[in-house]
Amino acid sequence: MLIKAPKGTKDILPDEIVNWQIIEQKANEVFSKANFKEIRTPIFEETSLFERGVGDTTDIVNKEMYTFIKSDRSLTLRPENTAGAVRAYLEHNFFRESPPVKFWYKGPMFRYERPQAGRQRQFHQIGVEMFGIQDASADAEVILLASEFLKSLGLNDLTVEINSLGCNKCRAEYKENLKKAIAPFLDGLCEDCKSRYEKNPLRILDCKNEDCIRLFEENNLKNSVSGIKLCDECSNHYKQLKEYLDILNIKYEENTFLVRGLDYYTKTVFEIKSNNLGSQNAVCGGGRYDGLVETLGGVHTPAVGWAMGVERLNSLIGKIQDNKIDYFVVSDNKQEALKLTYKLRACGFSAEFDYNSRKFIKQLEKASKIAKFAIILGEDEIKNNYLSVKNMETSEQTRETFEDLVK
Ligand code: ATP
Ligand code: MG
Repeated sequence: MLIKAPKGTKDILPDEIVNWQIIEQKANEVFSKANFKEIRTPIFEETSLFERGVGDTTDIVNKEMYTFIKSDRSLTLRPENTAGAVRAYLEHNFFRESPPVKFWYKGPMFRYERPQAGRQRQFHQIGVEMFGIQDASADAEVILLASEFLKSLGLNDLTVEINSLGCNKCRAEYKENLKKAIAPFLDGLCEDCKSRYEKNPLRILDCKNEDCIRLFEENNLKNSVSGIKLCDECSNHYKQLKEYLDILNIKYEENTFLVRGLDYYTKTVFEIKSNNLGSQNAVCGGGRYDGLVETLGGVHTPAVGWAMGVERLNSLIGKIQDNKIDYFVVSDNKQEALKLTYKLRACGFSAEFDYNSRKFIKQLEKASKIAKFAIILGEDEIKNNYLSVKNMETSEQTRETFEDLVK
């Protein structure tokens, strides 16, 4: 029996890799311009990092972690990268640098979820984290960065939704109001929502269960509770964010029910959504997490960031281009073909030849599949020191010297 890739994982095949390479290259370009530095943290961390950092009332920590024990230590494949970034920030004393400290990352994340379109068990994220700035200009900066990154990939028609979750003070009253509004139909909600009701009622609003969503609508939940009533400080911060976004010309929609799935957010939260992704429509999610550095053992440090799902991003941009090589050398003289191939590569082109010296017609067939041009190196070409260059798209053929060609 053939062994297959585990459920919820995917091979990224050579045919698809160009997209990934372009996405990563654009990320590097766009983030570097804003002075964000790439950081690579381990793919597994101590389990307690996520329990404390992501929060033990979240779906991620309760049901989605890949946890294993080695030498009596509990380790977990990272379900997200913010906790790891904060751990590295503290471990390497970045808090001693003058703020802001700005990181970006890319890489695989692991969550034990039900695989479906846009949802995998191993998936990839690209994200940014910015430490040390309380002012809403930092929130605007990271939202701008997400938007610039998406634009660099040709994606302009996405919706940025924003909300403010306020601070613990602002949330206390709202949680009570929400609980009161939910109480009459709590029995009909899913088991997760029932436990959220006690531990973190806010996150009931983020439930993806269809029955729950139907009950919210039938009971008019969103009309019976208004958004979070913000204290003066949080309300000012939110107002400033909107002013910055206006100045930067970033269009946004306010969604007073946007809560996000993680425990650590304070004040700003946002998502970037597409209408072309079906039910898993969020490409990017993020927000401010002013309490997280302290939760993980540091001094109080304001911070804001986001993460983007690369698979979902990929399905939005479609196939960018095929990855044909520049030249395929067609010849029955293997030594000359090999020499020319290496000379072309030395001049910066991608090139290959036929390792089996099959019939010309077979070699040309191969060239049309994998190369932009075929270089025909027959007896006459070798004797008279020229090359016949065939454009595989237009079938046009020209006669050139090697020197002309590489010019
Ligand atoms: P969702 O609400 O779709 O489950 P989330 O709130 O769990 O997303 P985050 O943890 O904020 O998402 O991750 C940020 C982004 O990573 C998401 O917007 C999405 O694009 C992507 N993402 C999250 N989980 C998965 C997954 N299992 N498979 C593919 N992409 C994912
Ligand atoms: Mg999720």
